[in-house]
Amino acid sequence: MSGTAQDDFRQLYGYPPEGVWAAPGRVNLIGEHTDYNDGFALPFALPQRTEVAAARRTDRILRVHSAEVPSGAVTLDLAELDPERPPQGAASWAAYPAGVAWALLDAGLPVGGADLHVRSDVPTGAGLSSSAALEVATALALTDLYGIPLTRTDLAALARRAENAYVGVPCGVMDQTASACATGGHALHLDTRSLEQRHIPFGCEAAGLRLLVIDTRVRHALADGAYAQRRTSCHRAAEALGVAALRDLPHQGLEQTLARLEDPVVRKRVRHVVTENERVLRVEQLLRAGRLREAGPLLTEGHASLRDDYEVSCPELDLAVSTADAAGAYGSRMTGGGFGGSALSLIDADAERSVTRAVTDAFRRAGFAPPRITTASPSPGAARLV
Ligand code: ADP
Ligand code: MG
Repeated sequence: MSGTAQDDFRQLYGYPPEGVWAAPGRVNLIGEHTDYNDGFALPFALPQRTEVAAARRTDRILRVHSAEVPSGAVTLDLAELDPERPPQGAASWAAYPAGVAWALLDAGLPVGGADLHVRSDVPTGAGLSSSAALEVATALALTDLYGIPLTRTDLAALARRAENAYVGVPCGVMDQTASACATGGHALHLDTRSLEQRHIPFGCEAAGLRLLVIDTRVRHALADGAYAQRRTSCHRAAEALGVAALRDLPHQGLEQTLARLEDPVVRKRVRHVVTENERVLRVEQLLRAGRLREAGPLLTEGHASLRDDYEVSCPELDLAVSTADAAGAYGSRMTGGGFGGSALSLIDADAERSVTRAVTDAFRRAGFAPPRITTASPSPGAARLV
């Protein structure tokens, strides 16, 4: 299959889809590991997106197929969706769309059977949120098909619930919100406590800048366990400091606050979260003032904080960041949960080739697999295409 999502759907199921919906992957400009601390994040949507061609069925069957998965369509009965028993093995990817149907039903919304065909150019497992793109595109398709009115914020919350409760991944709400709510040419300031959103103009191209996305193509096995551990330390630290979440700790007087914590490791974790929230606010102000280049050093500072205080980086990410910066980037950082995945680098438009080459060469010299380097401009959020 290699035509449009509509052609592929027709070929697969023998009849045309009712529509095609799309949702993008995302890059987080700044604000990492803040979304489970009620903090701030500043993601933007990627041009890469996941398309879902879909049609209603008259029964209660959900059939899902992905061009990215060779093992064929997965058939599920809506009445039997159970978060205790998500699809396994070759069908495990189907937990994402099935989880969305389950979350809709669990919220009492009148979703019925459907056939879905998925195709995507968001790389999976690269820290660019292919999972949120798949969830949000599916949620938009199902709610549109069944005439279910949901705000984009509610749609994102529902997609997150699918990932948390059905797929079993304890992610925050940033990824789904970015995919569902972002607008082209803007970054999305998200307050993960109030869910308040601000669309911040982020005109890189007009300013003669580019954003490089450096996919290291590694994902270290530590990632899931370390993520859960970091969440737990943050929640315990908030409790010890008598606040609802680390977001409530002011940046001013941080050292005195930290002195109240006995464990030096926990102190570092808290310092990352508090300084990272502050960096989000400062980057937002710089973008608003059109001083995009000046945001660069804050990205690099954020990387150092993730590397040294939060300890979620890895040699590949550190090398990508240090090499890009040494080759003239304004600033760079890992983006996403860490332990692999992607780094982001803010560069002059005419430095694209030199920075790309420098990073590629450094990876070769270090004996790392070649990174996949692309440019990204802030793109629109989820939409119906056809
Ligand atoms: P990320 O969200 O950073 O890409 P995740 O591990 O959260 O990484 O999600 C990746 C998983 O999501 C894949 O392993 C797969 O199960 C599922 N997935 C994402 N996109 C697709 C797709 N287009 N087709 C099938 N499965 C997908
Ligand atoms: Mg994901």
